[in-house]
Amino acid sequence: DRYTKQDVIDLVRENDVQFIRLQFSDVFGTLKNVAITARQLEKALDNKCMFDGSSVDGFVRIEESDMYLYPDLDSFLIFPWHSQSGKVARLVCDVYGQDGLPFIGDSRYILKKVLRKSKKLGYNFNVGPECEFFLFHTDEEGCPTTLTHEKAGYFDVAPLDLGEAARRDMILNLENMGFEIEASHHEVAPAQHEIDFKYDNALRTADNILTFKFVVKYIAKRHGLYASFMPKPISGVDGSGMHLNMSLWSEGQNMFADSRGELGLSDEAYHFMAGLMKHAPEMSLITNPLVNSYKRIVPGYEAPVDISWSPANRSPLIRVPTARGSGTRLEFRSPDSAANPYLALAVSLAAGIDGLENKLQPGKASTKNQYEVTEKAKLKAGIGALPRDMKEAMDLFKDSEFMKEVLGDHIFDRYLDAKQGEWESYQKTVSQWEIDEYLYKI
Ligand code: ADP
Ligand code: MG
Ligand code: MG
Ligand code: MG
Ligand code: MG
Repeated sequence: DRYTKQDVIDLVRENDVQFIRLQFSDVFGTLKNVAITARQLEKALDNKCMFDGSSVDGFVRIEESDMYLYPDLDSFLIFPWHSQSGKVARLVCDVYGQDGLPFIGDSRYILKKVLRKSKKLGYNFNVGPECEFFLFHTDEEGCPTTLTHEKAGYFDVAPLDLGEAARRDMILNLENMGFEIEASHHEVAPAQHEIDFKYDNALRTADNILTFKFVVKYIAKRHGLYASFMPKPISGVDGSGMHLNMSLWSEGQNMFADSRGELGLSDEAYHFMAGLMKHAPEMSLITNPLVNSYKRIVPGYEAPVDISWSPANRSPLIRVPTARGSGTRLEFRSPDSAANPYLALAVSLAAGIDGLENKLQPGKASTKNQYEVTEKAKLKAGIGALPRDMKEAMDLFKDSEFMKEVLGDHIFDRYLDAKQGEWESYQKTVSQWEIDEYLYKI
């Protein structure tokens, strides 16, 4: 444990912090905040800050709406920019009900529950995410567009690439907040970027993904740009994923590494991988939650389309990067940044644990580019497919006892309800594609 209550109080005073954002997440992974002034800090640290749960998507009805925020002291960090009203800090919170019990609709609680299970088996779960995003222009009203300076070309004369400058500023700010930035680069598509921060235990990583997205959006805005984590904002170019790099640790040792194992991997690594592969289809509604998510996972754009693994190439669901020793990991490649990070990590870990407990095997590695393997060959090799659209993902989710078990009835039901509504709304809408394709033909 990093900080005591007094440490946080001292840090706020010493750094002249005026506002503290009490951060939590709704069922869909949308960052929620209750901002308090420094004067209310002690009350917050005594778990006495209340909010109206009925106004948060997927939480509770009005009749039972008072909820409490219990700050996680170790999550304290200060945003490095000054606003006019002074410095701002964040504390990630757990959500509790009036009865003093953790709220079952709090996705952070769901992740903690699965983490407790893995701890019982002797494992710490470490995760490093790779969040990709686009930097777009805004229109005259300040609304985001899908135009980029790189394509439009009207910034040709600018001495400095707007996107690169924004990304550099993002990295500096994140580093000042204590993020350890390992890599950052321009991605395959025009105006697409990636910034990677160092892996940490899954709870901290999920907390940090939400803060990361907030910071990226905030800094983009200061540069007159709009950062979007939408999985596939532009047809015909790569979409944005959130690869999740995972490993299990025990007593400071990476349990996925075993120099005597095949490819230098342990049995645990193979079982964990097999668990992920077994449950990936029914998990898709969590890891790829939007109608739009399924426009990303199509052949040809570095996103997986089937349930295969490989030590090298970048088309399967799971890649085993070449690093060994502490860097030994599985890269789960289907998730995108629209996912609720708490739930995505909870279901991933639960799937891996199922693999461990039942000693599942992932089968042979795919050595080919999966985009070029025929359906017939896949069938023969027993390689299954990921859901093609949100409807298919929803149907698999709906029938999944595993997902119900991991998420609990409360989140399972509310999540499914919301997704059903989203699908119906999409289904009823006539898209531009249909107009272009049919209007003149029929
Ligand atoms: P890629 O080769 O897929 O582009 P990156 O270098 O962009 O990979 O990202 C690697 C990510 O994996 C980083 O977030 C890094 O911290 C993380 N990582 C490294 N070792 C481990 C590990 N043992 N467990 C989990 N994540 C790890
Ligand atoms: Mg990367
Ligand atoms: Mg990419
Ligand atoms: Mg990438
Ligand atoms: Mg990657």
